[in-house]
Amino acid sequence: MKQSVKLIAGNWKMNGSAASLAEIEALRADAGRGEWRVEVVVFPPSPLVERVARAAGGSPIEVGAQDCRAEAAGAFTGCVSAELLHDAGARWVILGHSERRQGLGETSAGVAAKVEAALRAGLHPIICVGETLAERDAGEAETVVAAQVGASLPDSLRDQTFTLAYEPVWAIGTGRTPTPADIARMHEVIRSAAAARLGPVAADMRVLYGGSVNPANAATILATPGVDGALVGGASLKAADFLAIIHAA
Ligand code: PEP
Repeated sequence: MKQSVKLIAGNWKMNGSAASLAEIEALRADAGRGEWRVEVVVFPPSPLVERVARAAGGSPIEVGAQDCRAEAAGAFTGCVSAELLHDAGARWVILGHSERRQGLGETSAGVAAKVEAALRAGLHPIICVGETLAERDAGEAETVVAAQVGASLPDSLRDQTFTLAYEPVWAIGTGRTPTPADIARMHEVIRSAAAARLGPVAADMRVLYGGSVNPANAATILATPGVDGALVGGASLKAADFLAIIHAA
């Protein structure tokens, strides 16, 4: 059965520092009031994962990483394995973010290998897909996104719980968002593509929307049919904004 609780995920990207632990304290204090109706996961940069996990310990806030290497160990200078992230306290990992697909040449096959690694290490994957503006303007958005879904999901997801995130590349960090109708339509496309790839298990997955979610648009986006939560970048850096999104769900 599909998980009915929405998921609000905060991707700090390469931002934050030890001082950001104060934001976790603020989230924690708010969670303590017992009013959250959503699951919350924070994705700090890797060097902060352990400290954020400690700061969040015993609260409903979970911690994830923004990427992992597919291999468990080896001569991969500068890389971090899913196992190391799990050791550090991560329980989630974002894979296939467009900033890695676009900027670092990450392919859907590579993303699928990382999903396998995440499952092997006990991390819940959030797999990102989304079209560029040129692809949308060319009328190719649905084809591109469906192809990314098909190629990014390994067979081993058939007996697992997982999450997809629709993140149109042109909406990330730009202040622009698709219309609710466009989001709803693409979430349907994503569900069909995942079902075609994996079968009925895809009915259980959550599909998040990501791209310029902020306190002003969160309620509308989170109420859009087919939206099971949000992947939030810039607006997750300050607890006040992130809390406004958490409470909008
Ligand atoms: C993201 O980085 O996944 C993202 C959605 O960023 P922003 O909310 O800043 O657009």
